[in-house]
Amino acid sequence: MDTTYDVIIVGAGNAALCAAIAACERGARTLVLEKAPDYFRGGNTYFTGGIIRCAYDGMEDIKALIPDLTPEEEATTDVGHYTQDEFYSDVMRVTEGLADPELAQLLVAESHPTLLWLREKGVRFVLSFGRQAFKVDDKYHFWGGLVVEAVGAGKGLSDQQFEVAERLGASIRYQTKGIRLIQDKKGRVCGVVVQGPEGFEEIHGRAIVLACGGFEANAEMRARYLGPGWELAKVRGVPYNTGDGIRMALDIGAQPHGHWSSCHAVAWDINAPVYGDRTITELFQKHSYPFGLIVNLEGKRFVDEGADFRNYTYAAYGREILKQPLGAAFQLFDDKVKHLLRDEYRIAQATMATANTIEELADRLGINREGLVQTVRAFNAAVQPGHFNPTVLDGKSTQGITPPKSNWALPLDTPPYLGYAVTCGITFTFGGLKINSRGQVQDTEANVIPGLYAAGELVGGLFYHNYAGGSGLAAGAVFGKLAGSSAAEDVVKE
Ligand SMILES: Cc1cc2nc3c(=O)[nH]c(=O)nc-3n(C[C@H](O)[C@H](O)[C@H](O)COP(=O)(O)OP(=O)(O)OC[C@H]3O[C@@H](n4cnc5c(N)ncnc54)[C@H](O)[C@@H]3O)c2cc1C
Repeated sequence: MDTTYDVIIVGAGNAALCAAIAACERGARTLVLEKAPDYFRGGNTYFTGGIIRCAYDGMEDIKALIPDLTPEEEATTDVGHYTQDEFYSDVMRVTEGLADPELAQLLVAESHPTLLWLREKGVRFVLSFGRQAFKVDDKYHFWGGLVVEAVGAGKGLSDQQFEVAERLGASIRYQTKGIRLIQDKKGRVCGVVVQGPEGFEEIHGRAIVLACGGFEANAEMRARYLGPGWELAKVRGVPYNTGDGIRMALDIGAQPHGHWSSCHAVAWDINAPVYGDRTITELFQKHSYPFGLIVNLEGKRFVDEGADFRNYTYAAYGREILKQPLGAAFQLFDDKVKHLLRDEYRIAQATMATANTIEELADRLGINREGLVQTVRAFNAAVQPGHFNPTVLDGKSTQGITPPKSNWALPLDTPPYLGYAVTCGITFTFGGLKINSRGQVQDTEANVIPGLYAAGELVGGLFYHNYAGGSGLAAGAVFGKLAGSSAAEDVVKE
């Protein structure tokens, strides 16, 4: 029996499964290799809120993704629009103009068609009411370019994708990690050495897709590439994304690409475990800070909490928290904004305190009392008049303090006060492999490495400095589909 596969995919997260679905769709004999046991499957994808960014021109485009939207939902919802130009300029703005224009253009142009493709395969989506909309005058207004999420969040997305991939014929081997790429005499990648429960094995394939995550769960690589202190960050997702795919490809001459010293990192509960918890998933995050204040142990503010919608600041603020004494920070709110806090603030595991005075809040959270009182006093005095509106950049700001608060600035003056203790939680790393517009991995001389494709977190060049929320799943889906279909087309052609 011929044991050679057409397409072997390393990893089984969103990017890998989109590659598998696309390869199977083109008739390729497809094998998916996953390091985790089946009961821990799904990668970081499992931990997500399942929220996916895509360009759309209005309600009709959203209805194509969510055909079961009820007339009542439609009538009480304003999704606005999020054109390809808006998406592209958001990517360029948050990456300080550094995102690879070709990859960014592909991401933007293929985002909606790729979600439509997933929907046609059986993956279902809903409107992201709980996370991305606020009710104003009896209508839900979506904000920040994010509208859809997978049914069942990350777990739902992952389960649905496994179901589709297996239905289309993909084989999946769990507890089987890729450790080395095999090349033939011409340099073509023609297999993977894996390590599984039975030991080492060579598995041969005519094309290999690497989709096994970044190096966020590798403390040594974090310290080496992100810098000192990063080995101390908590990991929001799986312990498995240890840079294996990147290392395997670099070992055979792949070109490193992108922002190797940067990553996506957020405010994460200070007492969260070292790696993600599959029951709590993403709920250790604390993302409602635009409606409050963030201070460090000295009681000092250190970022503009209202610089932009949370979608465009949250991935960069984890890094700022890590720089603070003990890598700790505190998000403070008062009673008048309590109703705006996301679900994650209401979990029993949240490290939080309530108090009737700022002094008491400082004592309960271990913040320097005088420092905090002074900060709150100066902040409250700096708040300018204006109309507070959480669904737009309302320009209600502070004046005369550093850092300023540029939007949604309300005085912290209505007890009871709420305080949440957070640290830095790393999501994924930005540096990785260079791919071309067909998802093929390039070598250091910018030639294609024959037989090798890549997708997902381990692709470099798309994210620099910062990130627009929901782009990780979008990029994984777009480039996973691209890599899987290119790989299958190339081997079927031969
Ligand atoms: C808590 C959390 C919340 C998030 N929320 C969102 C969100 O709402 N929206 C969004 O767009 N993004 C979100 N993200 C980011 C998102 O998870 C990633 O961008 C995306 O899921 C990455 O997909 P991937 O397929 O590249 O990696 P993963 O889903 O992590 O899959 C990689 C897989 O490779 C496997 N693997 C690793 N090494 C090997 C090896 N050597 N051999 C075989 N298999 C291997 C891993 O076990 C894993 O299953 C979130 C991330 C986290 C952690």
